[in-house]
Amino acid sequence: MTDDEARRKQLAAAFQMPSFQTMVSRKSSITNAFVNSVIPVIPPTLEEIEQALTLLGMDPADVRCAYCGDKSSEWDHLRPLVLKHRPTGFISEIANLVPSCGKCNQSKGNSAWRAWMLSAAKHSPTGRALANVAERIARLDAYEQWRPPTKIDFEAILGREDWEKYWSMWEKVIAEMRQCQEVADLLRKRIMEHLAVR
Ligand SMILES: [Zn+2]
Repeated sequence: MTDDEARRKQLAAAFQMPSFQTMVSRKSSITNAFVNSVIPVIPPTLEEIEQALTLLGMDPADVRCAYCGDKSSEWDHLRPLVLKHRPTGFISEIANLVPSCGKCNQSKGNSAWRAWMLSAAKHSPTGRALANVAERIARLDAYEQWRPPTKIDFEAILGREDWEKYWSMWEKVIAEMRQCQEVADLLRKRIMEHLAVR
């Protein structure tokens, strides 16, 4: 490779366009908001916090990410709240929450924790080639056995009509966003054309 070629390659690799966001790529955020807004939130007792940390082998003065061991910044839903744009029925309670770092929480998203931990995803523990993945998985297995998770049957509690009405509101928002995107696409095209003739 000549110096010039190497330089060109280096320059191309040095730049990264911010990821292309559209209304439609916000669909998951909208779904998460619809689910999170109806999910019960049950604050733990101090005894439960102690039990949880003991199960995870952690000191309350030094709480670590249960997935990777980095400093924890938040608690993440172990079993996802959303699957295929609908709620799974799992809720925000300590038996379904583990300390996490932001990187793991983001990377895991709505995946099942074990599959994600073993996956080659860029920021998963396996993707990052961490040494003690099996040990962390064993801890999380024990955590899952701690007590049966609450699983909500929304339709049974709210009745089919009210529940479906809520999700038809979601469909309306998504359809509205699609229409907005069509308008945005046309406007962007016109703006690009304007830039080209200048
Ligand atoms: Zn982590």
